[in-house]
Amino acid sequence: MKILVINCGSSSLKFQLIDSDTESVLGKGLCERIGIDGSVINFTPAGRDKIVKEIPMPDHNKAIELVIEALTDPDTGVVGSLAEIGAVGHRIVHGGEAFTKSVIINDDVIKAIEEVSDLAPLHNPANLIGVRACQKAMPGVPMVAVFDTAFHQTMPEEAYLYGLPYRFYEKYKVRRYGFHGTSHAYVSKRAAEIAGKPYESLKTIVCHLGNGASISAVKNGKCIDTSMGLTPLEGLIMGTRSGDIDPAVLEFLAGKEKQDFKGIMNVLNKQSGVFGLSGDLSSDFRDLEAGLHDGNPGAVRAVEAFCYRVLKYIGAYAAAMDGVDIICFTAGVGENSPMVREKIVSRLGYLGITLDPAANDVHGKEQIISTPDSKVCVMVVPTNEELAIARDTAALVK
Ligand code: ADP
Repeated sequence: MKILVINCGSSSLKFQLIDSDTESVLGKGLCERIGIDGSVINFTPAGRDKIVKEIPMPDHNKAIELVIEALTDPDTGVVGSLAEIGAVGHRIVHGGEAFTKSVIINDDVIKAIEEVSDLAPLHNPANLIGVRACQKAMPGVPMVAVFDTAFHQTMPEEAYLYGLPYRFYEKYKVRRYGFHGTSHAYVSKRAAEIAGKPYESLKTIVCHLGNGASISAVKNGKCIDTSMGLTPLEGLIMGTRSGDIDPAVLEFLAGKEKQDFKGIMNVLNKQSGVFGLSGDLSSDFRDLEAGLHDGNPGAVRAVEAFCYRVLKYIGAYAAAMDGVDIICFTAGVGENSPMVREKIVSRLGYLGITLDPAANDVHGKEQIISTPDSKVCVMVVPTNEELAIARDTAALVK
């Protein structure tokens, strides 16, 4: 079955058409600047050159229309007609406590997603705009919601509760939810396959290190803890997000910088992380690595602090699981930076881990990077959230 995977943001829309039988990508693309001047759609049919078109997209309905046009174009399209698309899988950021797995979208599901939208006010409404635009353009085609939070819903209370008055959990559901769940699920399962061991028998730590970064502890096939919280701001130091911070810093900085709460939150989300730590050098690890080679002190401090935070979480999660069998690195930085992996793994000798430096020299492909006698198997496992969404979608609509 051909499945359209949609990841819809407030002004952008990523799409992939995946054949779920062969698991191959037939085409993929991106609509940018939806609702803004200078809208652009790019589309890459498999094995062919990228096509870029500047076309006004006043809203998401127009964007979906253009996606369908691109997919069905007689010359450069990848399907003969819309009828070939069997289902649509939508990435939905926040499922709250209502969704513990992917579901077929109906009116009740849409209502439930709306009900948790105050937990992800930037994401969920945008995701739903994508759902509605697809429903309008492709009536009768089954649609599935795949949630970033669902995989983490198995966390026990001790891991998801904050040290706050319990009434805030009862009244507002303030708790740790965690994100990147589709990636953590996909990578931890794939790691078990690579290791040739049953998923349900393993203790795995997944380090999803991209522009957004999070880490999870997966024990016997279930997530038992993860670093992102009520929102994606908690946990690791990220591209521009601060990660863990003393909450009192907010009030202190608001006073010093004469900013309101919103202004300080903007600093924490958009101007912090390795970008802020490096002295605004860059949020991109390619630039930071170049800076590191040139001895740029900002780059050194940002990369060291980033790696140290990951190291601390690995220690915490090994403790939480009473051991660890597999550590995986994934996402942009985790898949492509031997330097970051080396900095982290070389400090895990206390777990009986030995890095194989030659094997670690790998970019974006599956590889075991620890030595055969290492007590814990360390791997690079490229993530594939679109494929995971397509798999869930195919399984549900069959
Ligand atoms: P997200 O999906 O959160 O936007 P990605 O997982 O795509 O992020 O990761 C993007 C980041 O990956 C970039 O900002 C960059 O820091 C890092 N990255 C990509 N390629 C490389 C590379 N070759 N070497 C080091 N870092 C890289």
